[in-house]
Amino acid sequence: MKIGFIGLGNMGGPMAANLAKAGHEVTGFDMADVEIEGVRMAGGAAEAANGAQVVITMLPNGDILRRVADAVIPAMDKGAVLLDCSTVDVRSARDVAAQAQAAGLSALDAPVSGGVGGAAGGTLTFMVGGDEPGFNIAKELFDIMGQKAVHCGSSGNGQAAKICNNMILGATMIATCEAFALADKLGLERQAMFDVVSTSSGYSWSMNAYCPAPGIGPKSPADNGYQPGFAADLMLKDLRLSQQAAETVDADTPMGRAACDLYARFVEQEDGKGRDFSAMLPRFETRGRS
Ligand code: NAD
Repeated sequence: MKIGFIGLGNMGGPMAANLAKAGHEVTGFDMADVEIEGVRMAGGAAEAANGAQVVITMLPNGDILRRVADAVIPAMDKGAVLLDCSTVDVRSARDVAAQAQAAGLSALDAPVSGGVGGAAGGTLTFMVGGDEPGFNIAKELFDIMGQKAVHCGSSGNGQAAKICNNMILGATMIATCEAFALADKLGLERQAMFDVVSTSSGYSWSMNAYCPAPGIGPKSPADNGYQPGFAADLMLKDLRLSQQAAETVDADTPMGRAACDLYARFVEQEDGKGRDFSAMLPRFETRGRS
């Protein structure tokens, strides 16, 4: 396939490289001066999109996505697919999809889970919103860049799935960390706490697969000085998107709001910036109730 790829950062770079390695003809563009193995670099977003059957975007936020969409949509052939893999607000995803459809294109929002490791290893999970024909065309590319693609319904539903998932993740990580800190103060060994909770009703991905306590459970960023992994800054971004979406549709999300406020304090006022989101545990360890 002829593919345009815009936004070749930590995630987009390896995703584009994997597509090229699989034999697709990939033309890329990034604001920064980057080189990606197997990818021909264009002088602008529209040039990268020109003649492509699928144009993939992997960008920081919804405002940038809107600007890039304005540039690439007029350059794309009717029937081509605009496939946005960034994490953005649901409103921007739906507006960009409507703009693409009005120009005779298919549009998909397909945010990912799996992080930089998943992008490099081709093991991402895609949560996809948009039309069925577009999904069927992109499926072959999802299979190269990832291990699973779930079609979640119409435009914006991929972003909805992503922020709901990460709202659960943020809240359960905080709950897991505060419970470890409480257990410490009650004199309960961390290994015993893990052995019980990971096989009891308090279990979760945060406890079982990504345990925030060093030396306990499978290897995780806690065993590497809380280097990300999944950075607290990115968790904050996703929690803010969840609260923005909740406000738009008048949904009551008290746990999501509390998680958002806590990660905001951790990243913006404490030492959370640049650390893994599980570094909430050392934060709780040093604190009392007030
Ligand atoms: P990044 O900052 O490394 O990459 C974004 C790239 O977009 C940069 O290279 C930047 O130069 C480029 N860019 C910005 N404006 C542009 C424009 N107008 N035209 C062309 N290029 C432009 O970010 P990332 O970590 O690769 O994340 C990309 C997206 O994936 C984000 O929406 C993020 O929330 C999401 N995401 C990231 C992770 C992760 O672990 N890093 C995990 C899941 C989802």
